[in-house]
Amino acid sequence: MDFSLTPAQVEYRERIRTLIREVHRPEHTERQHRTGTFDSPEINRALAAGGFLERAIPGYGDGDPIELWMLFNELEKAAVPADGIAMALMVAGVIAYVGTEAQKAEFLPQVLAGDTLVSLGYSEPECGSDVASAQTRAVRDGDDWVVNGAKMWTTMAHVAKWVLLLTRTDPDVPKHRGLTFFLIPLDLPGITIDAVYTMGTERTNATFYDDVRVPDRYRVGEVDGGWRVMAVALAFERGLMGGTAAGVPLLRHFHHWAANVRDDDGRRLVDDPLVRERMVRVAVDNEVAALMTLRTAYIAATGGLPGLEGSMVKVHATEAYQRAARWFSEAAAPAALLQFDQPGAAAEGWIEYDLRHSPVTTIYGGTSEINRNNIAERHLGLPKAR
Ligand SMILES: Cc1cc2nc3c(=O)[nH]c(=O)nc-3n(C[C@H](O)[C@H](O)[C@H](O)COP(=O)(O)OP(=O)(O)OC[C@H]3O[C@@H](n4cnc5c(N)ncnc54)[C@H](O)[C@@H]3O)c2cc1C
Repeated sequence: MDFSLTPAQVEYRERIRTLIREVHRPEHTERQHRTGTFDSPEINRALAAGGFLERAIPGYGDGDPIELWMLFNELEKAAVPADGIAMALMVAGVIAYVGTEAQKAEFLPQVLAGDTLVSLGYSEPECGSDVASAQTRAVRDGDDWVVNGAKMWTTMAHVAKWVLLLTRTDPDVPKHRGLTFFLIPLDLPGITIDAVYTMGTERTNATFYDDVRVPDRYRVGEVDGGWRVMAVALAFERGLMGGTAAGVPLLRHFHHWAANVRDDDGRRLVDDPLVRERMVRVAVDNEVAALMTLRTAYIAATGGLPGLEGSMVKVHATEAYQRAARWFSEAAAPAALLQFDQPGAAAEGWIEYDLRHSPVTTIYGGTSEINRNNIAERHLGLPKAR
């Protein structure tokens, strides 16, 4: 496994860093914390104008998964709100892999323009981990399908144009075999979107589908072949598209603050041996996460789907992030309880935010328990948990 980057990839990374420096502003971060929408339209448009999005979609254009990893790694390290564009590119990758030519022609240019977001409609009120139990029904009616049901946690639906919707098309076969995906516009009649605010700041949504007529051309993959489409989507989601480097800005924010704050005796927090030890542990965890992420990118770049490796890096990186947020908030107490707009907040509020946000990262995109089951069964060959 060779992790060294080609000169062209190094140059590509430099161009992303320059773009972030030029376009990202503190008010975009402030907007993320105020609205709970983790998206930056300014960055999305600039990435589109610079030709970065096309190169970051696996299976499309001249790009490869290394560039996909690099783009999200740089955005995440710079703490740029990028969940919106990540989901859009992930679905673009799915369409590039399994979509029809007509779907590619209609959908991909919209995403590549940097102004069209896409939400993921997998989870339901009664099923998240066991997503193959989805009950949202799609019933064939002539050239259309009629969709009825409810989805939970449809993040970005309030600003997205499309939803990648998992539906049940055959209730009479084993659950994994009766599922079908659709990529449908969210402005179709019969769709309702309700806000859900979470402890980690993020706004997500409950979405409802009431006799929504969906033309068959919006079906993605085979009828009842949804589980194969899901495998492609999950392989991109875990590892390649951000979510594994949140510890990097956390360490940077804490380090900067701890180097400047002093106790009553004039000692800097950063000189406390326990604090130093924890910072080193976080740096090591971050490095391990970076290498594991590179491994997923390498596997994808050489024709594989890094599902198992994605599970491994997600468990490691999100749990290390949660641990780091806890350590740093203990070290920064009581300033760690203060939020972004409150004077005296540790690291200008980042520590308080990371403490709330980090647990959520161990839930979405597959919980730690589900990823551990995946590793236990597929990597270690242990018996099935259920
Ligand atoms: C902020 C946020 C944003 C999200 N965004 C989206 C989105 O955009 N689109 C989308 O479709 N979904 C989204 N989700 C949903 C997310 O993927 C689910 O919350 C997650 O998969 C867990 O499902 P659940 O909430 O139904 O919990 P459950 O599946 O009910 O799990 C509850 C607990 O039981 C554990 N558990 C369940 N099954 C097992 C098992 N077999 N073995 C061991 N332990 C088990 C879980 O690990 C968890 O601790 C989002 C969630 C959050 C919190």
